[in-house]
Amino acid sequence: MTVDLHDYVATVENFPEPGVNFRDISPLMGDGVAYKQAVDAIADFAKQLNVALIAGPESRGFIVGSPLAYTLGIGFVPARKGGKLPRKAVSASYTLEYGGVNELEIHEDAIKPGQRVLIVDDLLATGGTINATREIIEKLGGIVAGVAFIIELEDLHGREKIMEAGEVPFLALMEY
Ligand code: IMP
Repeated sequence: MTVDLHDYVATVENFPEPGVNFRDISPLMGDGVAYKQAVDAIADFAKQLNVALIAGPESRGFIVGSPLAYTLGIGFVPARKGGKLPRKAVSASYTLEYGGVNELEIHEDAIKPGQRVLIVDDLLATGGTINATREIIEKLGGIVAGVAFIIELEDLHGREKIMEAGEVPFLALMEY
């Protein structure tokens, strides 16, 4: 059975601030068929890229990336928010879509030089989160083999921001 994943995205008007339409994938994650279909579609993409690791930013990147890594039988690397990792880590900062600055960190030994990594997240907005994750992976000597999302918000031009940092294979299961 194939479902239309759009049916599992809730649009919340004026959240987290007036004028913003928040795309909530909780219904998708909460449905076994839709969740598996989304993860399997990203797994098909990953299989073409010969990746050694999946990386995902906190928190919803974990929800997409962990079942994906498990399905592929490869490791998962979390990019955590600043100050949470217990061992030596490499970090990068970025500006948030709704203002403010955030920091992401990856343990220094999580990625070996030359390893091919697929970055995943639930949603691509301005691209700041993904470019920060990418910056850390590249500082560690990893190769970003591709990027994949459940949703891309086209008007925010995140895809262009990613490609400005270097062309990479791209997948978004839905565009809004
Ligand atoms: P970016 O860094 O501007 O691309 O923002 C993407 C990050 O913010 C992702 O980690 C998303 O989980 C989160 N985000 C931004 N807008 C939305 C939204 O409308 N729905 C769900 N998550 C969002």
